[in-house]
Amino acid sequence: MGHVAGSTFGPASAYFYSIAKRKLACDSAGMTHLTFVFTDPPITSYNIRLNSTNDQVMTDDVVSVVVVGAGAAGLTGAIATAETLAKDGNSGRVLLLDGAKQIGAKILVSGGGRCNVTHKSITPKDFFGNRNIIRNVLAAFSIERTIAWFTSLGVDLKCESTGKLFPVTDDARTVVTALLARARHAGVIIRPGHRVIEILASRAGFLVRHSHGATQTSRVMLATGGQSLPRTGSDGFGYRLARDLGHRVTPRVPALVPLVLERSMFHATLSGLSHDVELTTLVDGREVDRRIGSLLWTHFGISGPVVMDASRFWTLATNRGAQVDLYGNFVPGRTSEELKEWFVAQATEHPRRSLTRILSMLAPDRFAESLCHHCWCDPQELVAQVARRDRERVLSTLTRFRFPIERDRGWNCAEVTAGGVPLEEINYRTMESKLLSGLYLIGEMLDCDGRIGGFNFQWAWTTGWLAGQSAARSLLAEKVPPHSV
Ligand SMILES: Cc1cc2nc3c(=O)[nH]c(=O)nc-3n(C[C@H](O)[C@H](O)[C@H](O)COP(=O)(O)OP(=O)(O)OC[C@H]3O[C@@H](n4cnc5c(N)ncnc54)[C@H](O)[C@@H]3O)c2cc1C
Repeated sequence: MGHVAGSTFGPASAYFYSIAKRKLACDSAGMTHLTFVFTDPPITSYNIRLNSTNDQVMTDDVVSVVVVGAGAAGLTGAIATAETLAKDGNSGRVLLLDGAKQIGAKILVSGGGRCNVTHKSITPKDFFGNRNIIRNVLAAFSIERTIAWFTSLGVDLKCESTGKLFPVTDDARTVVTALLARARHAGVIIRPGHRVIEILASRAGFLVRHSHGATQTSRVMLATGGQSLPRTGSDGFGYRLARDLGHRVTPRVPALVPLVLERSMFHATLSGLSHDVELTTLVDGREVDRRIGSLLWTHFGISGPVVMDASRFWTLATNRGAQVDLYGNFVPGRTSEELKEWFVAQATEHPRRSLTRILSMLAPDRFAESLCHHCWCDPQELVAQVARRDRERVLSTLTRFRFPIERDRGWNCAEVTAGGVPLEEINYRTMESKLLSGLYLIGEMLDCDGRIGGFNFQWAWTTGWLAGQSAARSLLAEKVPPHSV
């Protein structure tokens, strides 16, 4: 056990200390700096600031667990670790580092500011990724347990008709405030504005280098999120940290993202209109996804739940250079053959009605009118006079409309990331890395993305909770001495 400058170092730090060459120096402000220079592995030096009066180490120099990233997964992971350690009468230090100045920024903007915490029914089919592993992970933290956990945090949830669960306050701030309060109560040391730059692993533990210094720890939990909405702090740097620690990272693309249509399309005139559509995605001519839901026309193209859910298939396939086609049936469940019969019957019954009037029995009239123009038909033409060729073109466009997609709207408008650290490299019982013991990976940085409806948060709470429990238990089992402040 090493003893440096009045601060007790655990086995991990003793190891780092023993292999480092040390150099003490005083800066112009009178602060003493203790510099470690490592030769095994050959890395750069790092600096610990010492208080010149009592020689106490001032940074969070040695802790039991460092959680990198204080989003939904990291906060849950830190709370679960600290509470599990405390339950056993131990007081291991849990340090939660986040590069962003504001903790929980993504939770605050989620669900339109209301935070869709979870969903009343969660199955592996609601997620994309290795579903066998996802099934096992999800089973560890059921919906009932999630709801009870939130209740214990003081956040009561309500279920809406869509099956989505929100805080009864309809305010995402309730969730962030409760998580932060619980973390602080559990003794988690929270450090916003601390960006992790590098993590070095050795036989004795980890050295986490961040923007304010360095911390030695026995366990590291990586919860750096994906690349969606980078201004909240999740800019993808966490993937580099994972890669440097030996993990693979599959290609990442924006998911749950709106799609931009070619300018020549009529979308802008329909901006704000939403209606149901059956969306089918074909990759290199093969159907990979089909779903029904609400589509929202916008000034740039298309959005709404059904488009957001389908977008991952478009972004993933486009990213690997495949041919992707997205078709919409605006009369879900009906074929153009079925509609032909219906149309002829309508034309016989109401010959003096306009083409749009007839079509607006199937879809919103604004859309019906745009569709007629798109098919070079006069929307006001009497239905009895519409040429057979025109009628067939309109009906086949109505039921098999090819969206001319130019691009997705990018990371700033994406809600999640598809791709990431492969689930196969994680022990699903613990969320510990199979490649590096003591390292845990949780949340959106893993190669798993859920559909819209609270599923992505459920993944974050579940993986965080699982990793927190496991990290604490593994520390207790090893009887690593709790690191005192
Ligand atoms: C607009 C929007 C709305 C959404 N709405 C919902 C919703 O209602 N329901 C739902 O289920 N899902 C929703 N999602 C998705 C959900 O927010 C995410 O899946 C979830 O927040 C991921 O949690 P996480 O903890 O894994 O990552 P994040 O929440 O992204 O947190 C990662 C944290 O790591 C920090 N970090 C990154 N790199 C470093 C580093 N090098 N050093 C230190 N810290 C670092 C970041 O600052 C960040 O705080 C929404 C997403 C967006 C963008």
